[in-house]
Amino acid sequence: MTRPSSAALQMIERLVAFDTTSRNSNLALIEWIRGYLADHGIAAELFFDDDGRKANLFATIGPADRGGVMLSGHTDVVPIDGQEWSTDAFRVTEKDGRLYGRGTTDMKSFVAVALAMVPRFAAARLATPVHLAFSYDEEVGCLGVRRMIDAVAARPIRPTACIVGEPTGMQVVVAHKGKLSYRCDVRGFECHSSICHTGVNAVEAAAEVVVRLKRIGRRLREEGPHDPAFDPPYTTVHTGVVAGGTALNIVPKDCFVEFEFRHLPGADPRALLAEVRDYAETVLLPEMRAVRADTGFTWTEMSSFPGLGTPEDAPVVELARALSGANRTGKVAFGTEAGLFEAAGIPTVVCGPGSIDQAHKPDEFVALDQVAACEAFLGRLIERLGA
Ligand SMILES: [Zn+2]
Repeated sequence: MTRPSSAALQMIERLVAFDTTSRNSNLALIEWIRGYLADHGIAAELFFDDDGRKANLFATIGPADRGGVMLSGHTDVVPIDGQEWSTDAFRVTEKDGRLYGRGTTDMKSFVAVALAMVPRFAAARLATPVHLAFSYDEEVGCLGVRRMIDAVAARPIRPTACIVGEPTGMQVVVAHKGKLSYRCDVRGFECHSSICHTGVNAVEAAAEVVVRLKRIGRRLREEGPHDPAFDPPYTTVHTGVVAGGTALNIVPKDCFVEFEFRHLPGADPRALLAEVRDYAETVLLPEMRAVRADTGFTWTEMSSFPGLGTPEDAPVVELARALSGANRTGKVAFGTEAGLFEAAGIPTVVCGPGSIDQAHKPDEFVALDQVAACEAFLGRLIERLGA
């Protein structure tokens, strides 16, 4: 097994030690990275959230007057709450060729390897620049990176290629699904359950919405559109939360449902949403309003991000394949920030160390040979961008 450099290992240890669970500020980590880059003569720009608690970091190594390759990763991690860890989640533990710790695979190892390469990037006198773009709040709906993308994409000179280092086992991923998630609040009218015909049952109306969603999901599974490169090969529909009612002898006044569409790139999830809303408002609502006028549905978007669908013959795909030595590309079901970069006109692929199977779980780990493969990948990038 190839062992990563000690610089990369130390950097992973350092980054994992910052508890950057999405609900926390990531500024301690960002400030540490800024200081590290400054020590190597590299200036960084920060893009803060509204209350200044979190920031994206963007830095350019090499000439600023031409496009270049952007290495992108998120700094936040998912919570460890309720998970049974056999090690301290915020202290990297090496065992059996693996590094255990929260964020080792999703996705501090990629960020750490890129940072550990900074002295080599800086010494290489690159003809084409490397950009580092590190975000916050990816795990809560790809929220934070949007500000940085808006700023970077509006510049006259912007990156011509982006590699998002989410865990793909260092395979080159050219497409992923997009997501649209919604909450539907049902307002009914309460009364004694013995005269339930004088009330409007919010739980039952919500249940009919869920059934409608399920029916759409079945139709997409049976009839497509299908893309066999995805697993599963169709747009999925899923209801994750239903809550309503207080006691069996009360007709429930309130209920809400949270659901999502995970759609193939290019598919339109808003058309599916419109189908559900149309059903609720033309079929269910008249029956509810016939009993009580102030009943109804409120629909609130929770989050959305676009799918990624980079053409196989795009230069960024050729670049990533040359760096990884892979002759095949893949498509994945999980979402990343890559679709947002693509939507902003920056050609993007996903390629990073570790496996999504270990992400978000207790005892998350990355294999050492994955970290080493990532180092080799970025080493070849230096050769390619060199003077
Ligand atoms: Zn991630």
